[in-house]
Amino acid sequence: MSQYPVHFNFPGRLVMIGFGSIGQGVVPLILRHIALPPERITIVSADEMGKKEALEYGIKHIVQPLTQENYRQVLEPMLGRGDFLLNLSVDVSSLALIKLAHEKGAMYLDTCIEPWPGGYTDSNISPSLRSNYALREQALELRAQLKGGPTAVITHGANPGLVSHFVKQALLNLAADTSVDAGNPQSREAWAALAARLGVKVIHIAERDTQVANTPKKANEFVNTWSVDGFVSEGCQPAELGWGTHEKELPPQGRHHEFGRQSAIYLMQPGAGTRVRTWTPKAGHFHGFLITHGESISISDYLSHREGDKVVYRPTVHYSYHPCDDAVLSVHEFAGRNWRMQDHKRILNQEILPGGIDELGVLLAGHQKNAYWYGSQLSIDEARQLVPHNTATSLQVCVAALSGMIWAMENPERGMVEPDEMDFRRNLEICMPYLGPVVGAYSDWTPLFDRNRLFDEGLDKSDPWQFKNVIV
Ligand code: NAD
Repeated sequence: MSQYPVHFNFPGRLVMIGFGSIGQGVVPLILRHIALPPERITIVSADEMGKKEALEYGIKHIVQPLTQENYRQVLEPMLGRGDFLLNLSVDVSSLALIKLAHEKGAMYLDTCIEPWPGGYTDSNISPSLRSNYALREQALELRAQLKGGPTAVITHGANPGLVSHFVKQALLNLAADTSVDAGNPQSREAWAALAARLGVKVIHIAERDTQVANTPKKANEFVNTWSVDGFVSEGCQPAELGWGTHEKELPPQGRHHEFGRQSAIYLMQPGAGTRVRTWTPKAGHFHGFLITHGESISISDYLSHREGDKVVYRPTVHYSYHPCDDAVLSVHEFAGRNWRMQDHKRILNQEILPGGIDELGVLLAGHQKNAYWYGSQLSIDEARQLVPHNTATSLQVCVAALSGMIWAMENPERGMVEPDEMDFRRNLEICMPYLGPVVGAYSDWTPLFDRNRLFDEGLDKSDPWQFKNVIV
């Protein structure tokens, strides 16, 4: 008997697209928690990365970069009713794959909505259309066309993904700690009403990665603890945030979109060039990058509370990401090159020294108890002990991809779903054993803390949680 619970006995085939840091980290979890023999798994990726490991598991590994022209021809023979398409690649259109999986009757999961190459950075299209807001609107349009069908989970990694479940748990914890009767919210409207009642003005996805490698970043090299290509492309998209109803003024660089649900705005500058103030329990207060992410838009939309047609409450939601220190240096160098990639890239794994952690959680603020952070403080040491081929960063993503797959298999006919629409308890139950310490912590920190020390910063002291006070 295995010491690990097998959550689902999967009779179909699994096709994985991409086998980089996340693909390699998730395979041991899939083999551990889903009854699925390796002979029924095929990996399609653009390079030889991880091929040796795949073959050691007995998994077929095909090097075949997918393009708009060839993806159907390559994937069609591998997919049929009841199979699963797991997309962990960069540069392959999520929407094209979702459509194909739907036609074939296969389930689907990705951890980010990817466009075909250039979709994030093509300056011939407007910044508004290069945003995650636009990609999400396209996905929701496709959902309306597909009308149900096999479950396709979109954007279910750590963030986007797991953090949507953290938000719900944090809302319940906050309600309990402030004597608000939360009941048992079962619908979007009920969650939005609860967030409104608690008076949560902002939600930061607050992350501080302290992992350090034994070989420091070299000049002309981009170093990160997960996909360099993924980070660079999302960092080049406009900064984006869910835009709360308490906000008094649009930042000077801020723009509204001219289409869609209007839950978010974008800034006329790249996320990797935009810093915001935030707080996590171990790091304290720090500056993070306001990198655009799907959850900023989906959570703010999900928690929009309406009276009639009018949105009367919505929180401001955004990412504040302090990647590992060598990645911060890499971003600095990248910005200095006017956002042209360095010639060399390195994803850290084996060379990470013991001791670092990836502190990733949600900071709910502006309420009666000021600020509450809820999330994972997984260390590199614990991650390595728990699952081979992983770092603290990758494991938080991989276990969420696993829980999303299991939830899809348990709910195979739900059509396209976002993390906010899934059962947060079931997902957290599967993820918890792999997240290290999961803690909730209150703080009296606000973005006004220790400000105006050297210069008058033009702060809005009447409401600490105005975005004006948060942006650097
Ligand atoms: P990586 O750079 O390590 O690997 C990318 C993989 O994609 C490689 O195996 C590469 O061969 C493959 N690939 C590239 N072009 C391809 C093509 N044309 N056809 C087929 N395969 C192709 O990336 P990663 O760190 O494993 O990340 C994978 C994905 O997961 C990215 O989209 C990233 O943004 C996303 N991600 C999401 C989260 C989250 O928390 N939601 C976190 C980390 C990564």
